[in-house]
Amino acid sequence: MKAFWTVDGPRTASCVHRSQPVGPRARVRRRLKRMAAEAMLRLQGPPLSWARPPAVVGLAYHGVVQDRAEALSYYDPHLLTSTAFFDLQMELVSRWLRPTAAGDVRLSDACQAVVGFDDAFTIILRNAIPTLHRWRIPATTYVNDATTDGACLWHDVIGSACPSPTAAYHRVRELKGASVRQVEEAVAACGGRQRGPLDRYMSWDELRKWRAEGMEVGGHTTTHYILTYVDDETREQEVRGNRSAIARNLGVVPATFAYPNGDHDGPTRQAIKDAGYEFAYEVEGTGDGTDPLSLPRRNICDAMCTDEDGYFSPALFLAEITGMVPKPTRSAS
Ligand SMILES: [Zn+2]
Repeated sequence: MKAFWTVDGPRTASCVHRSQPVGPRARVRRRLKRMAAEAMLRLQGPPLSWARPPAVVGLAYHGVVQDRAEALSYYDPHLLTSTAFFDLQMELVSRWLRPTAAGDVRLSDACQAVVGFDDAFTIILRNAIPTLHRWRIPATTYVNDATTDGACLWHDVIGSACPSPTAAYHRVRELKGASVRQVEEAVAACGGRQRGPLDRYMSWDELRKWRAEGMEVGGHTTTHYILTYVDDETREQEVRGNRSAIARNLGVVPATFAYPNGDHDGPTRQAIKDAGYEFAYEVEGTGDGTDPLSLPRRNICDAMCTDEDGYFSPALFLAEITGMVPKPTRSAS
């Protein structure tokens, strides 16, 4: 076994939010968490050598950004990873786990790292592809077909109408548990779906480019409604309509699905199965890798793997994605 240098690797990358001050208490908490993660990893060694390694290590990304200027166009920092962090993360994945395409998972295997990008942000075409190629990692982006013509999703409209990123975060979070009618009323009150950052999501042409780079496309519903809050008819339309739109426009039937916000229940899983999907991925849920329709993923952002001084911590990243540290309160999109 190679030396496990990754737990205390060189401090080479700082996160895009580093200039934001971290209070003394938060510094102490981060330091203790980092030291605990390093100690646990030193003790147990690389994930593949564990007595009970996780079957599926799912990584849910959204935007990958180069600098603060790019980061500022997003209302929620929990959806962002720096390109520098992303490169180090993919190196760790390629060294210590088994990078696996989302549709090629075998439940009997160990440590299959599955990389996904929810919502098909345009920015991943230029910021994630070079790193994915460098480390030979397959990835899937999960598409809402309503955004392929430049339209926004409901949470973009709501988020961009709020006076501050914090207000936006809380308002969107509040509406994630609302009915379709309540969501649509809130969208209409903000001026409709064209409000907010346009050109944020990949068009069909850009999705073809993504596929031409060897990457995959998966289903994510048509409009990103949270499937556990909609009626049966809407749920079926959202799932089947999305799947056939992808098939019609890209010439390939998606094999995998990601639940919007990671939320699923019995009727939702049944709808996914009835639509023909073999694998579906949640976020920050309870899946342990034994049910193909609730495969686990962690939401990846800079904050989860930043040490007390604002640098990338390999130990924190590995401990978080392999489930060594407790899962946070749900935060996904
Ligand atoms: Zn999403």
